Amino acid sequence: MRITFHGAARQVTGSAHLLEIGRYRILLDCGLFDSDRSAPDSPNRSFTFEPRDLDAVIVSHAHNDHIGRLPCLTKAGYNGPIYVTKATGDITSIMLRDSARIQREDSRHPNPKNPGAGLTEPLFEIADVEWVVDHFNRLPYDVATEILPGITLTYKDAGHILGSAIVQLDYEENGKKRRFVFTGDLGRRDMGLLPNPTPIQNIDILVSESTYGHKTLDPYDKLIKQLHAIVARATRLGGKIIVPAFSLGRTQRMVYCFQELFTVHKVRPIPVFVDSPLALRLTDVHRDYPDAYTPEARRVMDPDPMYFGSKYVEYCGSWDESRRLNYMTGPMIVIASSGMCEAGRIKHHLRHAVEDPDNAIVIVSYQAEKTLGRQIANGAERIQMMDTWFDLNAAVYVLDGFSGHADRNDLTWWYAQSGGNIEKAFLVHGEPEALEALTPVLQPHVLSEVIVPEKLASYEV
Ligand SMILES: [Zn+2]
Repeated sequence: MRITFHGAARQVTGSAHLLEIGRYRILLDCGLFDSDRSAPDSPNRSFTFEPRDLDAVIVSHAHNDHIGRLPCLTKAGYNGPIYVTKATGDITSIMLRDSARIQREDSRHPNPKNPGAGLTEPLFEIADVEWVVDHFNRLPYDVATEILPGITLTYKDAGHILGSAIVQLDYEENGKKRRFVFTGDLGRRDMGLLPNPTPIQNIDILVSESTYGHKTLDPYDKLIKQLHAIVARATRLGGKIIVPAFSLGRTQRMVYCFQELFTVHKVRPIPVFVDSPLALRLTDVHRDYPDAYTPEARRVMDPDPMYFGSKYVEYCGSWDESRRLNYMTGPMIVIASSGMCEAGRIKHHLRHAVEDPDNAIVIVSYQAEKTLGRQIANGAERIQMMDTWFDLNAAVYVLDGFSGHADRNDLTWWYAQSGGNIEKAFLVHGEPEALEALTPVLQPHVLSEVIVPEKLASYEV
């Protein structure tokens, strides 16, 4: 087999790995790179392989850095099956439609940050997304399916977001049975809502993510205690708790955590508002897969009229519902997107809340450099929104343990479960610091030197 790394090599975005097994070519993921789409040399604007030559595409999960360029692939002439888990199929169709809509809107307005750049041509249109959805081949977890002659695919739950999967491929080469495993993104262990990432044994070739290979994050019970204290403070002061959160995954996790606080930990309930139309649609998908959650989580949510919904949780669809929250008094919780405070409804909630010291802002996810969310997390005294400066008087709490990514301890555990004797291993989907820190953790389980591939590096394995 030959493997070539076309993205997420020494960086965290643009996941795309090309496998050549015998005469078949299989692409793992087709993600968006984090780059300015308007730049003519953006890596999102062209492929470094020939889409027409592919025989199959296998998707690990529905985050944009793993699915964001699927419509470009079909636009460029790919006409074969796209394998997804059932929930990933549902979520991907929502995420890609949303992406096409945003790109269409952007293409009609000049970029305010770069007005001289002209209008940006969308990478794809809604019609391209429909084509992708039509070619989905939805597979359940834990069922081996022959996707090409002699090559079987088995999806294993990765516990990262709903529908997320580890990709296991079994095939025969030169009369020898071989097992290839791609972790996709692995979730954290013992995080309440989703199950732990599934361990896999007898791996010959491993491609592992490494996002938080350099970090040790707080355990779940500590995070819940911190959240408890934040809710108690809001109740005492009558304050608002503002939680910037991505619409996919983090929003549902936080809703669940507040439900757990109110029911299991007997914290006095306060109203929770989820303010994001995209989160509303994605939460509906989360309700369609009750079996995806841990038995504890199901016990917490079973008494409610529906999952991720109780009398304390209200979802805001319209702008009027959203604006109404600005004029309500606490105690209350507002979960809104975007997760890094760069766009969306979170901005007007912050504008109304940041100057009051009785309020709190709770950062529960990664904040990229230069984003408003990063400034808040770093404890800036003043922040600028829509040309106006605001004093940041609200209390700021950074609870990055709510991340969807396995930390160093979780990855150590997962590698140890493999039973070792891995013939070849590659680390992808990480910044240099994470890759360097994780290499010695993985090395004892691998018979050859762990490889950190550069983009477009190619290996016969
Ligand atoms: Zn992910």
